[in-house]
Amino acid sequence: QAPAYIRAISPYVPGKPITALAREMGLAVESIVKLASNENPLGMSPKARAAVEKAIAGIERYPDQFELIAALAERLGVAQNQIVLGNGSNDVLDLAARVFLAPGRSSVFSQHAFAVYPLATMSAGGECIAVPARHYGHDLAAMRAAIRPDTRVVWIANPNNPTGNFLPYAEVKAFLQAVPADVAVVLDEAYNEYLPPAERVDTVAWIRDFPNLIITRTFSKIHGLAGLRVGYAVASSEVADLLNRVRQPFNVNNLAIAAACAALDDHLFIAESYELNRRGMEQIVAGLKRLGLEHIPSHGNFVTFAVSDGAAANQKLLRQGVIVRPIGGYGLPNHLRVTIGRETENLRFLEALEISL
Ligand code: PMP
Repeated sequence: QAPAYIRAISPYVPGKPITALAREMGLAVESIVKLASNENPLGMSPKARAAVEKAIAGIERYPDQFELIAALAERLGVAQNQIVLGNGSNDVLDLAARVFLAPGRSSVFSQHAFAVYPLATMSAGGECIAVPARHYGHDLAAMRAAIRPDTRVVWIANPNNPTGNFLPYAEVKAFLQAVPADVAVVLDEAYNEYLPPAERVDTVAWIRDFPNLIITRTFSKIHGLAGLRVGYAVASSEVADLLNRVRQPFNVNNLAIAAACAALDDHLFIAESYELNRRGMEQIVAGLKRLGLEHIPSHGNFVTFAVSDGAAANQKLLRQGVIVRPIGGYGLPNHLRVTIGRETENLRFLEALEISL
């Protein structure tokens, strides 16, 4: 029998796939708008697509992570032995849990924070300490106070999913200075590239100054490679070495590595994605206001808003072929999260929402 801590886990529930809804509702796949999983509405970077096609030629070989690690190290200004690749950044979160947590140890995270933190903690046998949120976001003072002698990991999502809250970096820095040195702080920056450049962390300085800091990022969001599964951690070489000890040798596949290398250099695509998101956010926020709905100001590629009955509104949206994300599992049963799409998708969503209220 599995240990009690494994049996206590509730599995992750992903956004409803387009094909599943098409089957259930008898709708054409092309008529469905999916704004449920914070994916890039522009698809994948064209340079990445070309790289994937080329990489198919070497698919009989085991993957070699060297090129992507070298490119990331150069881009970020850290040494190659400070980068750890993951099968999506979820994989890297799991590596951190497996390295630092075990039965008898605990991790601290915020209420309404990303769902993988409790999952990774429990998979490693650790205990979860969920700290009440402040204005739906992280309450860093309360999180500092919640750290116990057995705490070995603190998870911070910045911006947070599903609430979109952002902590100014001065606050995160003060937190890092206050946290005991034997507690690893995982700063999950899956949505980092959607922040205005002035609000982004100075990766090199922070990793140098805080040996217990692990920054995680992903190619799933602005780079549009969610289906290929590639993310990474940046940390001190000592911490990176620990993460690599539990990492599966070939955890990122050839196509993902090739695509990520190309996506990193596709500045035009990144700029277009950023701009589309900025305009789409304005469009959706204006639409929500017009409908008289409260939203949580978001710094990601999605926005969470309040409705009187989350489950009912979600069902009505689904019947109209619009998939958003119900977030009852995050303790927000009367909120829905919508990913920022293309202009026409955002319009479809707002029109369908008006009918669903
Ligand atoms: N962190 C946060 C805050 C996220 O929202 C997500 C994706 N939903 C991830 C990590 C994981 O993304 P991926 O595994 O695709 O890199």
